[in-house]
Amino acid sequence: MSKRIAVLAALVPALLGATAGVAPAHSAPRAPATVVTLTYDAGAAGPWADSITQAVQNWNDAVHNVRLEPASSPGAADYVYEATSGWPQTTLGPIFPGGSGDVQLGQQAVDEGYDATRITAHETGHILGLPDDYSGPCSELMSGHGPGTSCTNAKPDAAEAAQVDANYASGLAPTRHGHHQMVIDIWSGRVHSGSH
Ligand SMILES: [Zn+2]
Repeated sequence: MSKRIAVLAALVPALLGATAGVAPAHSAPRAPATVVTLTYDAGAAGPWADSITQAVQNWNDAVHNVRLEPASSPGAADYVYEATSGWPQTTLGPIFPGGSGDVQLGQQAVDEGYDATRITAHETGHILGLPDDYSGPCSELMSGHGPGTSCTNAKPDAAEAAQVDANYASGLAPTRHGHHQMVIDIWSGRVHSGSH
């Protein structure tokens, strides 16, 4: 074996190895192996039932990495919808299977003139890990009461859907400790100026 061939023989595997080492680790598919299924119980949501059905469908139509389904039994639900007399408030997720999220659908927001399905879809957005963005446009769900009572949009926009898909992209709950905070939504456009 000549000296030249020996050098090449040593070089080729090294080059192949270098190439192989760059690409694969970070170009793995981003889609999860399985879609995360979150189950909910709406047994205590009373008059909000239709709004919940529509809001859930809107989210399921918009996202790919998580799916919302009614729980087979109330005790097995990952989060619950319940009707209350106050302001809506919801656990800020993302909630994962085995979690215990709470969506309180507050009648006070409906009394203020806001659309029940938009309220329900917005609060569900919190379950999926989205924060409020009250200054956003009506095309966003998380703008909540911001655009006023004339806004009845109950579908997430593309950026909101993409953020939720990112929240569930790994299929796994983030490893963190402590409990989730509750987000309280004051669905009111009134300016408290002291005069009427
Ligand atoms: Zn909110």
